[in-house]
Amino acid sequence: MIYNEVEFSFNDPQVVTEIDGRNNQITLTFDDGPGKYTNDILRSLNKENMNAYFFWQTSRLYASRPWENLYKEGHGLGSHGHRHVDFTRLSPEKQWKHLQVSVREMTQITGISPEFFRPPYGKYNKDTVDAASSLGMKTVLWSLASLDWELKQSPESIIRNITEHLNPGAVILLHEFRQTRDILPELLQEIRNRNYKTALL
Ligand SMILES: [Zn+2]
Repeated sequence: MIYNEVEFSFNDPQVVTEIDGRNNQITLTFDDGPGKYTNDILRSLNKENMNAYFFWQTSRLYASRPWENLYKEGHGLGSHGHRHVDFTRLSPEKQWKHLQVSVREMTQITGISPEFFRPPYGKYNKDTVDAASSLGMKTVLWSLASLDWELKQSPESIIRNITEHLNPGAVILLHEFRQTRDILPELLQEIRNRNYKTALL
């Protein structure tokens, strides 16, 4: 059985798994950028007049990445760590240091300090949440996983995984992968057909 709705072990106001579902709002999130599909993903979202939250690894964030358009077009940008590491394997001090570098890099390049952090692999502990919080960020998980990382061969299942489990307030986990880029126009149509609206965190 593949998991779709993830349950988390503690209830902490610094940890976000869903948004306010009023007006059928949902949040689309894209991890693991920036990369070669970022512009295509932005284009598809803009075409449908929908927005999304992007969680970028700051080691990949250079001034020439499309962060400015991302903000201008009404999307959100958070940290996915400086590198893609498992925070639960780091000491509390190393977790803080890693996040501090990420926040510093993002702020230096964009001029905007991130408000949200998505831990790589969704792996975190209390020290992670505390470190993020001390740097001004809430930790964001998700309530609905698209499983796009294992669906390279059957990208249409990405659409089904989401549409069959959509509910108001859902935070949906997607990635800046080729297969996700490919199905995105159809996915956005399906979301619209079901009368859901996208919102930021
Ligand atoms: Zn990731």
